[in-house]
Amino acid sequence: MNGDSAPVPGFLRHPLLADRGVDHGFGTRAALAPSGLARPRQVHGVNVARAVNGGQLDREEADAVISHRPGVGIGIVTADCVPILLASQSGGAVAAIHAGWRGLAAGVVESGLGALREVAKPQEEIVAVIGPHIGRCCYEVDAPVMDPLHLRFGAALEPASASSRPGHHRLDLGQLVVADLIRSGIESESIGILAEACTACGVDRFHSYRREGSGAGRLIHYIQPR
Ligand SMILES: [Zn+2]
Repeated sequence: MNGDSAPVPGFLRHPLLADRGVDHGFGTRAALAPSGLARPRQVHGVNVARAVNGGQLDREEADAVISHRPGVGIGIVTADCVPILLASQSGGAVAAIHAGWRGLAAGVVESGLGALREVAKPQEEIVAVIGPHIGRCCYEVDAPVMDPLHLRFGAALEPASASSRPGHHRLDLGQLVVADLIRSGIESESIGILAEACTACGVDRFHSYRREGSGAGRLIHYIQPR
């Protein structure tokens, strides 16, 4: 990991995290993973891995990862799913969450946020930044995706989706993440979005599972506590 906060090439950063002195980056195709990151094996679930002394995680399989160990950076990978990087107000506690439709339907944002609050100082505000993911433009889904999301999000699913043809909807995963964050008590001004580009449209900048299939590369995203 970089010990200083100099930007690492190939990574996108956001002022909500940078202003707290938190080293972080959302990877593009050009990004090389910083060394020494603690990373879980992602399974589209809701389990949370926590960094322990020595830079290891307390469990292997997880889709949210937490660190409040100084110098221990954490990371997740995505190819169209939503990467979310979060930090406590002081920057002393951070989280990285991998949220696709399965994780969102199961509640991975809530579980990751809950675990972060456990290690943040009491009453400390949390900031969250949503990274590049597949946009509504390229993400069409059918009932097996919409039904479990409707169970979790109810009326909030409607503004995040639009009927495209019989039995199909275009879906905005990032908007569902925002709905989950706000429902969990995050202020809207504490939520940043770096999703100006869709990973499936952005051929030059991003890997995309929808575009490239199972051989798609992965984008690496990392964050390190202050
Ligand atoms: Zn697109």
